[in-house]
Amino acid sequence: MNIPRSSFPRIVIIGGGFAGIALAKKLSKKEVQVVLLDKNNYHTFQPLLYQVSTGGLEPDSIAYPIRKILQDYPNFFFRMAKVQQVLHDEKVLVTNIGKLSYNYLVVAAGSETNFFGNFEIEKNAMAMKSIPQSLNLRSMILENFEQALLTDDLHERDALMNFVIVGGGPTGVELAGALAEIKKGILPKDYPDLDTRRAQINLIQSGDRILKEMSEEASIKAEDFLERLGVQIWKNTRVTGYDGKTVLTKTDLVFEAATLVWAAGVKGASIKGLDMEEVVVPGNRIKVNEFNQLIGYPEIFAIGDIACMHTDELPSGHPMMAQPAIQQGRHLGENLLNLIENKPMQPFIYEDKGSMATIGRNKAVADLKNYRFQGVFAWFVWMFVHLFFLIGFRNRMVVFVNWVYNYIRFDREARLIIRPYRRDYSLFRDRKKT
Ligand SMILES: Cc1cc2nc3c(=O)[nH]c(=O)nc-3n(C[C@H](O)[C@H](O)[C@H](O)COP(=O)(O)OP(=O)(O)OC[C@H]3O[C@@H](n4cnc5c(N)ncnc54)[C@H](O)[C@@H]3O)c2cc1C
Repeated sequence: MNIPRSSFPRIVIIGGGFAGIALAKKLSKKEVQVVLLDKNNYHTFQPLLYQVSTGGLEPDSIAYPIRKILQDYPNFFFRMAKVQQVLHDEKVLVTNIGKLSYNYLVVAAGSETNFFGNFEIEKNAMAMKSIPQSLNLRSMILENFEQALLTDDLHERDALMNFVIVGGGPTGVELAGALAEIKKGILPKDYPDLDTRRAQINLIQSGDRILKEMSEEASIKAEDFLERLGVQIWKNTRVTGYDGKTVLTKTDLVFEAATLVWAAGVKGASIKGLDMEEVVVPGNRIKVNEFNQLIGYPEIFAIGDIACMHTDELPSGHPMMAQPAIQQGRHLGENLLNLIENKPMQPFIYEDKGSMATIGRNKAVADLKNYRFQGVFAWFVWMFVHLFFLIGFRNRMVVFVNWVYNYIRFDREARLIIRPYRRDYSLFRDRKKT
């Protein structure tokens, strides 16, 4: 990997997400050699992926080059590499660009979409966990409308304009709201010769309320906002199958839909060599102690989505959100320096700053530490918080300008099919014949 030997201990971080970047920043200018590995050369701001999928933002505005974030830090090395295996006995990582030894290893590889073992859904549904996936979804949504315009079969046209979103968490809610706004404000102008009033947005939730991690007040209000936008919400409904055209559910409800977005869950990213029975907990997360250290592997740590730290208040670990990842990254930075200097490590204490979700223009719900509020003010707070946490001045400016423009013009101009998503439309034609 062409990393020079150093007299400083080498800390290797897998993943340049919220947790990995927060840790690397904390270790900058200290007497350690830091090597950050990521399969991409950019950091992704995942909370705004849904805006890329729906043409509200260009992908570049929510991605940032990892090298630029850390370019002024001495003793810091970045390699674009996919980690394939951890050989913990040898303290070596195997990657697609070679092997690398470490003194301390920090796993900050995040999470991946959880299809709960349903391969049919995995094959046919759209996920929204990365920028390429969001661009696929953007293309697919637009291609479906182009295709709907060409068919004279009403059944096929309705299926092409039917969007089923599985998962009533923030991702599903935000995407449903954005699609509903497109239906209302953009489609009638873009497709005057198509009856876009027939387009449907169906949000399916297995539990009895959406945004179940938030307060009941927030759930009720979000539901009200979505219904006012024309989103159909199906609660207590579990999706069991999707062959690319028909969505099956446990309650015998059936949807004919060309698009199914799976936002129903995530699980810890898989890293070979760290899949020991005593380490992996349900949800494929890595069990850590109060110092984010793997029990039985004192030189290996895990932070962010992939880490599961059981506490009395949080028996299933911290929520898989940006704040725990950032806080764990910063905290581990201090603990690693303590460890190297033979000082005692301090336990991680999570400061819950609350959560928010936006449903659309002037509509958001916020459960902050001491306040709960919904509506326009929540929407402004949501925008401010997201701008604040975006990395890079340019990105903040671009996102801000886009939002102002979209707000004033009721528009989303990034509705471009730059990289067509290949989809076999004959599936729907075959149905017509049978
Ligand atoms: C659509 C969506 C919306 C969200 N909205 C919100 C929100 O509104 N608020 C909120 O707080 N949270 C939100 N989240 C969750 C939040 O983004 C995550 O909790 C957060 O990104 C976790 O940070 P992390 O550093 O653990 O992982 P990530 O940010 O996922 O970073 C992991 C990094 O590891 C890299 N990586 C993975 N495997 C390997 C490998 N084998 N080799 C090399 N590199 C690897 C990846 O490329 C990635 O850069 C959202 C997530 C999604 C998907």
